[in-house]
Amino acid sequence: MITFLSGGTGTPKLLRGMQKVMDHHEISVIVNTAEDIWISGNHLSPDLDTVMYLFAGILNTDTWWGIRSDSFTTHDEIARLGIDEFITIGDQDRAVHIARGEMMRAGMRLTNVTKILCDRYGVRENVLPMTDTEVTTQVKTDLGLIHFQEYWVRSKGKIGIEQVVRSFNEPPLATEEVLAVIEASDTVVIGPSNPITSISPILACEGIKSAIRDKLVIAVSPFIGNAPVSGPAAALMQAAGFEPGSVGTLHCYEGIPDIFIQDIRDPVDISGSVRFDTLMTSEEKSIALAQEILHLAGTR
Ligand code: GDP
Repeated sequence: MITFLSGGTGTPKLLRGMQKVMDHHEISVIVNTAEDIWISGNHLSPDLDTVMYLFAGILNTDTWWGIRSDSFTTHDEIARLGIDEFITIGDQDRAVHIARGEMMRAGMRLTNVTKILCDRYGVRENVLPMTDTEVTTQVKTDLGLIHFQEYWVRSKGKIGIEQVVRSFNEPPLATEEVLAVIEASDTVVIGPSNPITSISPILACEGIKSAIRDKLVIAVSPFIGNAPVSGPAAALMQAAGFEPGSVGTLHCYEGIPDIFIQDIRDPVDISGSVRFDTLMTSEEKSIALAQEILHLAGTR
């Protein structure tokens, strides 16, 4: 079994390839939940939704969020009624958020809710939230401390950020299920996700770092030079005190990776790193990178 640490864009692109070259039951994914947010009374878990929709075969892979060919009737009508849902939510996607919100209000753990939703969508891979504890990534801006989604989706990342703050009532704990899949895995892959908003929150869950320490850990850089392939990772790295780029990514991972993969185009030289084409612009390219990683993991 291989366990992947995932956000909602870069690592899912890798998982799209992995699901074609691995047995579905051999794939476990620990997913970031620090971007979760309640909107219109329902529970959005953007990264969990993307991973679940990917494995269910219904993800909109043009955007890497939402369900392919979804309609937006409710979202548009709510806007007409004067409610600013700053995240665009499709009708089927909203049904998932309603179901999740209902189960969570009834007191269920996010881990169990995720299992039920994945079962209903016929997902065979093991998709796990990193924690059942509520934790939120916020950024400090001129507007004060705001949710990461407010910064990235509402403000389109166009405002300056000074600091990244992770807030919670109780320190987030890795779940039993998360620790069990790590234990059952030989290899842990840190996919090319945002080091600050996707991977660090997972590594910060109590129990995870010590659990992965004696595993073969392979990490893929989300940067080429000082720019991420997409998204706000550079600004977030700077705000969190890391140099944007592969070196900063490796520092952010505190020496945990045994193997560090950089893109063949990355001009930054890191001794001992492995080079592959990591730009997953098609399913074929995702499969090719997945095969290289499996080869490194020694399972193929
Ligand atoms: P989020 O939750 O939507 O922010 O998604 P992730 O954290 O999973 O992924 C965002 C990161 O993925 C960004 O920092 C991108 O640079 C990186 N990324 C996206 N596509 C690719 C790709 O094809 N190759 C690599 N190496 N990184 C990618």
